Amino acid sequence: MQFLDSFKPELTISSPGRINFIGEHTDYNMGYVLPTAIGNKITFKLAKNGSLNKCNVYSIGLAGFSFDLNAIAISDTEWHNYILGVVNEISKLTSKVGGFDCIIESDLPLGSGLSSSAAMECGMAFGLNELFDLRLSKITLVALSQRAEHSYVGTQCGIMDQFASVMSKKGNVILLDCQSLEYQYIPIDIRPYKIIMLNTKVSHNLASSEYNTRKQECEEGVSIMKRRNPKLNSLRDVTEEMLEASKDEMSQTVYNRCSFVIDENKRVLKMVQAFKQHNLESVGNLLYDAHQGISQLYEVSCPESDFLVDFTKTNPSILGARQTGGGFGGCTLNIVHENAVKEFITKASKAYFEKFNIQLEAFEVEPSGGTSVQ
Ligand code: ADP
Ligand code: MG
Repeated sequence: MQFLDSFKPELTISSPGRINFIGEHTDYNMGYVLPTAIGNKITFKLAKNGSLNKCNVYSIGLAGFSFDLNAIAISDTEWHNYILGVVNEISKLTSKVGGFDCIIESDLPLGSGLSSSAAMECGMAFGLNELFDLRLSKITLVALSQRAEHSYVGTQCGIMDQFASVMSKKGNVILLDCQSLEYQYIPIDIRPYKIIMLNTKVSHNLASSEYNTRKQECEEGVSIMKRRNPKLNSLRDVTEEMLEASKDEMSQTVYNRCSFVIDENKRVLKMVQAFKQHNLESVGNLLYDAHQGISQLYEVSCPESDFLVDFTKTNPSILGARQTGGGFGGCTLNIVHENAVKEFITKASKAYFEKFNIQLEAFEVEPSGGTSVQ
């Protein structure tokens, strides 16, 4: 692209990926989540280009594209929609955005459950906010990024990923109530253990039907239970008693999905207690319980992530593990003693390669700060 030859960035934005300690598929059910940003990130280099409407975006390793601010429309190229969706949402709020050039560089693996999608949206939103002095609040940037994913990408995601990418604080996880958007930073100290991510390299596609199907199944459960509980709006307010009372009126599948969400919300609150009490054994057990639910009740795991979680169970240096992210692959999160990390990665990689013929990717993450100007 022509602009690349003479590009001089005015602004560099760091937009991180995230992990979610626990609370999977609870965000769109208005429940609790416990995410944090990580050190891996997408970097946006931005500059105004002096034109009124002409925008150029180049993602290193992919390609570039240009668009006109007066003719924003959904693209056939998936990744363009993360950019276009954000620009579209911002232009509903302000007319102060003008022509700009942007180079994107990433060390976040795509489609691995570390939310490169939210990092794309929030980095773009944060960058335009700074570049054009839009003065939108952080929470407005979070919400418009989520709307961009709904309207342009087509994934009916909850608020967690965007919230974590923007709002995180180093050394903490965020206890976020997705109903009220109230949040609390919870300091975590898991020394002498480390958070090790294993990338299954099985790439999910959240825009695919499965994610939206889970959401519909939860909504079906709510609408069935609403007959007996007219004030009910989401699974957040469902108790085990309410679910049991309506069990015969729903399919086993819908029952399982609802059951998982009820348990998972409880696990988030238990995890917070475990962190506060520095009860690392309990942290680990909650991860294993969560994976069991992800695999058996919510059915969003896959043979590869099930294998990697099982593989840890006989290792006394590992407290717990589970698949993290939307599902069907991506990464597993493992709590591993610092002295055992190297050996664990070597052994897991060998076993995984023998079983699936896939080279595992392993890396350590630490709770990090949210989107920022570099
Ligand atoms: P995850 O959020 O877990 O990484 P998703 O499927 O939700 O997985 O989002 C991945 C998509 O985000 C990619 O397929 C691509 O369209 C877009 N994306 C992520 N990183 C980049 C990047 N560096 N450049 C362009 N598009 C990206
Ligand atoms: Mg995503």
